[in-house]
Amino acid sequence: MKEEDKAAIVNALGLNGRVLGDLGKTDEDIPQLVHEIMVKDEGIWNLEGIEQWISEEEQEAILSIPVHEGEEQDKRIWAIDKSRVYSVKFGYASLKVAMQNNMCSRASSSHQIDKRLWKVIWSIKAASKVKVFLWRMCRHALATNEELWKRKCKDEPICVLCGEDVESVEHLILLCPWTRQVWWQGCFGLKICKERVRTIDQWLLEVFMEVSKLSKEAESLKTTIAYTCWVIWNSRCRAVMEHKEVSGDKVIQWIQSAVSEFLSVWNQNSHQVSKALKPTSKASIGIIIRDHFGKLIEGDGKKVIGDSVLISEALAVKEGMKLANILHMEQVEVEMDCECSFRSIMNPTVGADWKIRPIVADIVSLKNCFNVVEFKCVKRDANMAADWVAIQSRLGMGFAELSRYQPSSLVRILEKDGLPTPHSSVL
Ligand SMILES: [Zn+2]
Repeated sequence: MKEEDKAAIVNALGLNGRVLGDLGKTDEDIPQLVHEIMVKDEGIWNLEGIEQWISEEEQEAILSIPVHEGEEQDKRIWAIDKSRVYSVKFGYASLKVAMQNNMCSRASSSHQIDKRLWKVIWSIKAASKVKVFLWRMCRHALATNEELWKRKCKDEPICVLCGEDVESVEHLILLCPWTRQVWWQGCFGLKICKERVRTIDQWLLEVFMEVSKLSKEAESLKTTIAYTCWVIWNSRCRAVMEHKEVSGDKVIQWIQSAVSEFLSVWNQNSHQVSKALKPTSKASIGIIIRDHFGKLIEGDGKKVIGDSVLISEALAVKEGMKLANILHMEQVEVEMDCECSFRSIMNPTVGADWKIRPIVADIVSLKNCFNVVEFKCVKRDANMAADWVAIQSRLGMGFAELSRYQPSSLVRILEKDGLPTPHSSVL
């Protein structure tokens, strides 16, 4: 792999500047350049040739990068600084932080994490953000009060929710009185024994091993455990930020709905998921095309790879323009409700957020297919119909007949959507 190409992957979303393992130089069958693992026509990655050389975490991070359909060259980007340009000052500062972190992790690395745990974590049926969270949790990479105190960012390491003990990751996820209640009363009915918890990774592996013996429910229980950890952490962060108490009942509800929503999408998709396209970082986009009277011409929904609003909104604009082009439209007005995507599209050369630059480049070249293109940023509630399509698409619904037949729930939204306005066509 050439240095330039490596830089493109190193800057991948989610990899946070980590350098990937060397893929080797002698075997000619291994893809050597980034474009060899891109399937540009389909907008996806094919990692088959390199997957045995990189970790699952690296695979997931690569899969979550949008694939650029145009011919534009890759660029080096210094993701740490806002200017995206490398400077010696920032290079020095970030190296210093990295070295400090390295020293901290080495100090606590006398404890070795059992490698079997990583295998289990990456094989759980859960959203990739949840699996990455478990991985960070087991590596003590969460900003608990104990970790912040060790780094001198907090005066004391005590748990702010109970005030009873040091807020270690074990206390926060398992032993704090309210989290014990969540594990016990929640969908899992698990009693946490303090004596069994030495470190979070040891506890998690033991529980996963026990659960694996239950052949029938093993998979869904692992999913529930993963989401329970993730929801506990997020609820705790919310409570601390908003200076509120946590409601155990609400936390349990959140876990149940997150698990059932994920599993229903997973079960619908599992038969069509190919190896090159794992269900990672999935989002759904919705496209609504109307004429200048506000009448619906066409609608479409798609599942896309990209785990942020920014990426999915930019992809929705791109796919919407492609659809308008197929429909031979000449004048279009494109509405979106994500301000950051809007700014990036309006100012593609200097203002585009680097994470969506490849998509913005495709949008710019798609502009040439139309006589007039206008972009507008609208309020979210003026875009409810597209939201409806995105949600239906996430639930696995198709849209072949949407221009002829619209479900009554969509018709009601279309009537409320703040249109018609004097547009030629609205995406
Ligand atoms: Zn506590």
